Amino acid sequence: MRQMDRRRFLHSAAGAAAGLFSLQGLSAAIQTATTPYQRPRLKITKVSTAVVGGSLHARIYTDQGIFGQGEAVDAISGAVPIIESFRGHLIGRDPLNVDAIWERIRTAGIFAGAQAGQYITALTAVEIALWDIAGKATGLPIYQLLGGKMRDRVRMYCDSGTNNRKDPNAQKFISQIIDMGFTAAKIDIDDANDPARFDRVNWTANNQEIDNMVDKVAFMRESLPKHIELAVDMHGRYDLGTAKRMAKELEPFRLLWLEEPVPPENVDAMRDVRQSTHTPICAGENLFLRHGFRQLLEKQAVDIIMPDIQKCGGLLEGRKIADMAHTYYIPMAPHAQASPIGTMATCHMMVAIPNALVVEWHWGHPASRHEQWKVYVKEGDILQKGYIYVTDKPGIGVEMNDEAVRKMQRPGQKWFDT
Ligand code: MG
Repeated sequence: MRQMDRRRFLHSAAGAAAGLFSLQGLSAAIQTATTPYQRPRLKITKVSTAVVGGSLHARIYTDQGIFGQGEAVDAISGAVPIIESFRGHLIGRDPLNVDAIWERIRTAGIFAGAQAGQYITALTAVEIALWDIAGKATGLPIYQLLGGKMRDRVRMYCDSGTNNRKDPNAQKFISQIIDMGFTAAKIDIDDANDPARFDRVNWTANNQEIDNMVDKVAFMRESLPKHIELAVDMHGRYDLGTAKRMAKELEPFRLLWLEEPVPPENVDAMRDVRQSTHTPICAGENLFLRHGFRQLLEKQAVDIIMPDIQKCGGLLEGRKIADMAHTYYIPMAPHAQASPIGTMATCHMMVAIPNALVVEWHWGHPASRHEQWKVYVKEGDILQKGYIYVTDKPGIGVEMNDEAVRKMQRPGQKWFDT
């Protein structure tokens, strides 16, 4: 090659290489800025919260006008500043990487209580808001992102407003259960104010207390049509001996389940109760994450698990817990105190899992609470004759009626960004 040609060749080769390099750079830039969903990559810009009654609502905003809403319940005391502490893990991130964000926040909190309690409840609200964004960004309902739909509707059970024959309003509440089309109901039988109790602190029930509890179940079983199943909650108060006696005494009533007959933290005691009776035992509303359910399942301490999906870690965590339970042939009946937003989110998970049994509905009493349920979301009352039909709209698919819900706040509380 002549000197001049050689110089020209080298020059053009360098130019081609530079061109190639810019193309790679451009390609990388496009990869970073776009998603497979035919839209630019989303970035989280802001997180805000509002507490309404027993619910903590989190809103997560993005740079493209899409925002998601998630709800947490029960263990929400002090959860607002915990969510604020998550900001560094959220702002600027791609909200569609839901599980990666969730895992990053969870593992970052190992020394901050991220094994259970308020930390996980706060993370739950964030997780559900991220799924709402993911659904809205992809145009899909959340159930589709959790594996797709196995059923169109979720069976609900009514938390009963009454539990005894001396209640003057008993017939009203029993009629409500029947007229609203429920196929299952639940009563509480633990009674801190039972005059038969000898001690305000110790929870060993005497014969009279046992009789009083059994009579509540007998009254409800007599009053409800046979096709309406009955579950009974002892709220994790009693000692092991009382729990075993009650489970045995209640066997003739063929309960849907007996819930938390002993406190939740001693799995061996729960297993003792289960092994002593034919009454199905149910627990889990005070456990968190897969880790909280591992021993309960491994030791086969229950017949039914009942995580609260607004508390246990979120929708995908709920699905993972359900899948663990499914390998033991154990169904899931989530505890639920949430508004229609959280309840519909739970239903997205419940239509996607094989071992879905029933979900709690806790808004029938007092009457003012029922009225709140009906106006909480713009879609109106999502409960239809004892079932909730999961919506096909993107994300959770129900939108908070801000004007109505804001009136339910106690005065002086923060309302999202205001
Ligand atoms: Mg309970």
